[in-house]
Amino acid sequence: MNTQQIPVRDTDVLIVGAGLAGLAAAHRLRSGGLRVDIAEASDRIGGRAFGWFWPEAGRMIELGGTWILPGFREVRALVEEFGLELFDSPDTAASLVHFRDGVAPMATPGEDGVRGLEMALQTLRELPGTTAGTAADALGRAGLDPWVHDWMTATQRYLAGAPLTDIDARHLLLDLDELADPEHYKAQLHGTTAALAAALFGASGAALHLDAAVTTVERTATGFITTSGVGAFTSIAVILAVPLNTMATIDFDHTVLGGVSPFVRDGHPGASRKDWFVLDGVVEHCRVFASEGLFGYFRTERRLKDGGMLAVGLAPAAEGKPTVDDFEEQIREYIPSATVRAHTSHDWEADAWARGTWIAPPAGFYDALAGMPADSAGLHVAGGDLSADFPGTLEGAVATGRRAAESVLHTIHYQKTGVRS
Ligand SMILES: Cc1cc2nc3c(=O)[nH]c(=O)nc-3n(C[C@H](O)[C@H](O)[C@H](O)COP(=O)(O)OP(=O)(O)OC[C@H]3O[C@@H](n4cnc5c(N)ncnc54)[C@H](O)[C@@H]3O)c2cc1C
Repeated sequence: MNTQQIPVRDTDVLIVGAGLAGLAAAHRLRSGGLRVDIAEASDRIGGRAFGWFWPEAGRMIELGGTWILPGFREVRALVEEFGLELFDSPDTAASLVHFRDGVAPMATPGEDGVRGLEMALQTLRELPGTTAGTAADALGRAGLDPWVHDWMTATQRYLAGAPLTDIDARHLLLDLDELADPEHYKAQLHGTTAALAAALFGASGAALHLDAAVTTVERTATGFITTSGVGAFTSIAVILAVPLNTMATIDFDHTVLGGVSPFVRDGHPGASRKDWFVLDGVVEHCRVFASEGLFGYFRTERRLKDGGMLAVGLAPAAEGKPTVDDFEEQIREYIPSATVRAHTSHDWEADAWARGTWIAPPAGFYDALAGMPADSAGLHVAGGDLSADFPGTLEGAVATGRRAAESVLHTIHYQKTGVRS
């Protein structure tokens, strides 16, 4: 890894951002025999895939992206290619919901519940104006049964990571299976996503420049000149693989973004809180799904060697900045004997190179994304925030990164040979 100042470095492809999108692009470019450089603003790779060793737990935890859903085809292919392994969160002995009527045991919605959720999805799909408004507006107008309303709110409180008043109503239109089963957030990577980031980088052969915040990407007669915190790069192509909420710090030709461009200025409201705990006094594994209280989702993850219990909770940060005492009080509503021994989290909103968590699409964002060109004469964009198929996910990051790399390979092949590959 290179953090030294460079005067002007010539390369074939410059990738801006060493998150999973940038790293997947670098890995995919390996086969093209091109010189590839990565300019990364922070002092580490991985971005919002951030596996970190937590001394209090004596193990690695995920401060960012964690769960690998069954449909994550490209991530799963990489896991296999690199010989990495997945494991599941433990089965829970106690599954609770925390809805408007209080805390109650419930593992699944049951047959009647699933039917209620199916009908709610149908109602939302047919609601006039759903596609133009916010999720809160659509939920308010749909006239749902209170239980169904609470279930959908709970789902969105951990899936969207932003207040429902701030997000596109289409975020409510999930697959029925996804909506009905909070337990499908189970599969994770052994060694955390840090292992995937390291494997992608190691296999890419790319040159990495840390502390290299990019500020401008300008076109030249032969390609691009890009300025960064460590110096300038000239290249034939550039792949911008940074979060939507940091794009405004870079001066570049927005043609590549099409209708997504206005969202760069205003950003998206994704600001989830993800808190990790070491708890004492916990006898059995527990999972909570909540439309009320401090968490949208809370679960115990692992029994530690000293008898403590590792647990994690997710909720939109907009719902306040609780203290450890507040968290303990909330957790004791679920597990009366629990005490918090240690707590940690990463403030993604304050993180200068993230400025938020995963994309929480503002109203109108999905329409804009569908019409985005994705590349413009050698300038490409990638990232989980810009994935139309898997927005705001590890899969979206990997898939868009690989697609941008393929597009670069085609363009450069055409420039060199005059033949479309
Ligand atoms: C708390 C949390 C929980 C999540 N949970 C899940 C989950 O369970 N499952 C799931 O699939 N997804 C989850 N996600 C989403 C997933 O982590 C992201 O969608 C994915 O990691 C984004 O990857 P990316 O490469 O697009 O962006 P990033 O990982 O953000 O990478 C962008 C990189 O660009 C760098 N950068 C920014 N600005 C500049 C600049 N000006 N110059 C140079 N470099 C720059 C950043 O430092 C960063 O390294 C979660 C995210 C968070 C934050």
